[in-house]
Amino acid sequence: MKRNVLIIGAGGVAHVVAHKCAQNNALLGNIHIASRTLAKCQTIIESVREKGSMQQPGQLQAHALDAMDVEATKFLIRATRSQIVINVGSPFLNMSVLAACIDTGAAYLDTAIHEDPAKVCETPPWYANYEWKRRDACKQAGVTAVLGVGFDPGVVNAYARYAVDHCFDRVDSIDIIDINAGSHGRYFATNFDPEINFREFTSTVWSWENNAWKANAMFEHSKEWDMPVTGKATAYLTGHDELHSMSQNLGVPNIRFWMGFGEHYINVFNVLKSLGLLSEKPVRTARGQEIVPLEVVKAVLPDPASLAPDYTGKTCIGDLVKGTRNGQAQEVLLYNVCDHEACYREVGSQAISYTAGVPVVAAAMLIADGTWDIGEMANVEELDPLPFIGLMNDMGLPTRIRDAEGDRLLDPEREVGFGREQRLLANVG
Ligand code: NDP
Repeated sequence: MKRNVLIIGAGGVAHVVAHKCAQNNALLGNIHIASRTLAKCQTIIESVREKGSMQQPGQLQAHALDAMDVEATKFLIRATRSQIVINVGSPFLNMSVLAACIDTGAAYLDTAIHEDPAKVCETPPWYANYEWKRRDACKQAGVTAVLGVGFDPGVVNAYARYAVDHCFDRVDSIDIIDINAGSHGRYFATNFDPEINFREFTSTVWSWENNAWKANAMFEHSKEWDMPVTGKATAYLTGHDELHSMSQNLGVPNIRFWMGFGEHYINVFNVLKSLGLLSEKPVRTARGQEIVPLEVVKAVLPDPASLAPDYTGKTCIGDLVKGTRNGQAQEVLLYNVCDHEACYREVGSQAISYTAGVPVVAAAMLIADGTWDIGEMANVEELDPLPFIGLMNDMGLPTRIRDAEGDRLLDPEREVGFGREQRLLANVG
């Protein structure tokens, strides 16, 4: 049993994480939120109290922290007796926070791959550049570190593992499809940290084709997908974190990531990029000031968390998996549909933050109760997806499956006979 959670970051995803931890504080224990700006942590705490999210009375505290400072982070982990750290700050923090966890023995979770501010799109597989270099250190310290456990990366990795284990004898391809059919009503905004959002799209698009990396250009390949609820939408081949672990861990020859973009987004993106405004390289102004264009663009765009009150529509994110079973070709879609307005009513957030925040709390709960407390580093597809999918079904992120038998809730108990009892027995074992 691990207890007491330290949430790092106080942005859109942290807001959801705080609410969901509060809704489950009987298991998770005390909740601490730490970020650069104390006021943002305090605002989240006010929201948790206003919505009455606490499952039972308990500690909920805000702290100012520069999480690049490993010693300060270690001090806070120890002072708050936190055994689980949920890092939902900027991805630039990952290696510092992980170092603090390795030194203190706290379990580590994040929702995005580590990035160096000065480098965009490094050599694939990206996890080998930073995270996996710390694998041995995690194992030696017995530290559980679950990487990339938001929705994508995160839940889509679990869907892939489920399909490989339970739906097919051989998987030929996995297409991860991310469609946001919602509308925020602003001229232009990104749904999460603009700096990170743009960095995803400004360089080589890596896809995994025939067991090898293939380099593509952004917006070079597009396809119309017909997804449940959100319907037909054009999505573009995009480089994304999960390909860089799934390609190494699942033995599937073709894995691609497709993200839906409207024409307006693409036009604005192309103008910003052509003008050099999405560059991470500093430029000098006439007044002699050195500035990073991408940081300026971030500063003038809406804060993603501020989009929530006006957001309408739904997201649909899932894995379309193709392969064979008993010699027959078959196709399975595992997916979730999330409603922006329902998320706002429940926790005051939009669906992109919600779909990233719920899974990382579900993973924290599985570490707290021992199910996923493996004492080493893992990407999500290396862990048993059944308890994770089952838990999220009860936490506001239900999984559906569409296959030859129709379209239905993916209930691990009904599909493969995995229920709460098995989970408890597995823990006792
Ligand atoms: P935001 O930009 O809204 O929030 C980031 C937070 O990190 C801010 O509160 C910021 O503090 C804090 N922060 C930055 N630097 C430091 C530092 N040195 N010390 C302490 N705190 C710091 O991002 P989001 O909430 O939208 O996203 C959070 C994470 O989730 C990102 O890594 C993002 O890539 C990931 N994500 C993952 C998804 C998935 O499905 N896997 C989907 C969406 C997001 P301050 O405000 O004071 O500057």
